[in-house]
Amino acid sequence: MGRKFIVGGNWKMNSDKDQIAEIVKNLNSGPLDPNVEVVIGVPSIYVAFVRSILTETIGVAGQNCWKVAKGAFTGEISAEMIKDVGAEWVILGHSERRTIFGEKDELIAEKVAHALEAGLKVIACIGETLEEREAGQTEDVVFRQTKALLPAIDTNWENVVLAYEPVWAIGTGKTASPQQAQDIHASLRSWLTSNTSSEVAENMRIQYGGSVTASNAKELAACPDIDGFLVGGASLKPEFLDICNAQV
Ligand code: PEP
Repeated sequence: MGRKFIVGGNWKMNSDKDQIAEIVKNLNSGPLDPNVEVVIGVPSIYVAFVRSILTETIGVAGQNCWKVAKGAFTGEISAEMIKDVGAEWVILGHSERRTIFGEKDELIAEKVAHALEAGLKVIACIGETLEEREAGQTEDVVFRQTKALLPAIDTNWENVVLAYEPVWAIGTGKTASPQQAQDIHASLRSWLTSNTSSEVAENMRIQYGGSVTASNAKELAACPDIDGFLVGGASLKPEFLDICNAQV
């Protein structure tokens, strides 16, 4: 069976209830390609609200969670809580978590392990900075970031999607070219073959993220190893539907 195309929206820390109602109205009215899985990552405080008004065929994700179920962690939210209010997914390891909040590979792996154990599916983000790309370290970085996740994922690969997001392309309007993205996706898949199994590598969905818009989505979606997108800014706009439908 082929890999089902999966598009995630990452609203980040944006929107209020009125704006959310508008975005959801647009998503609910579609049309959406039935061959695409769509998941939207919303601020955790709005998860229950979004779930209550969004069509059931679209998944909801939290954008982060802590690494244990409960306890004295003021201000934190657990995977169990995200699930309890209706989300099925969580985005972990986003570059903004890594750079602004100082999250390291080890912490991200602990979060991934716990989220999976709690029954959430995980979009795990990896990607190099501009400095790392210019130093020729792109593969080393994404392999290192993925390697850290292996013990956390263990045999739970069907509940994980990898999002390759070059940091220099996030929110900058600079998209990796289809060839640049395809090259890294293909290298990641071959790394997965060597470090997990050919079955895991063949089935793993690898999203591309970084300034995806309706105007570049079709070309990126045509690449054989690009299995979907993680979309930031454009996921707040009506064009998100066109991005979801990029394969039609
Ligand atoms: C993101 O936040 O994951 C992202 C890719 O953002 P943007 O699409 O705005 O570059």
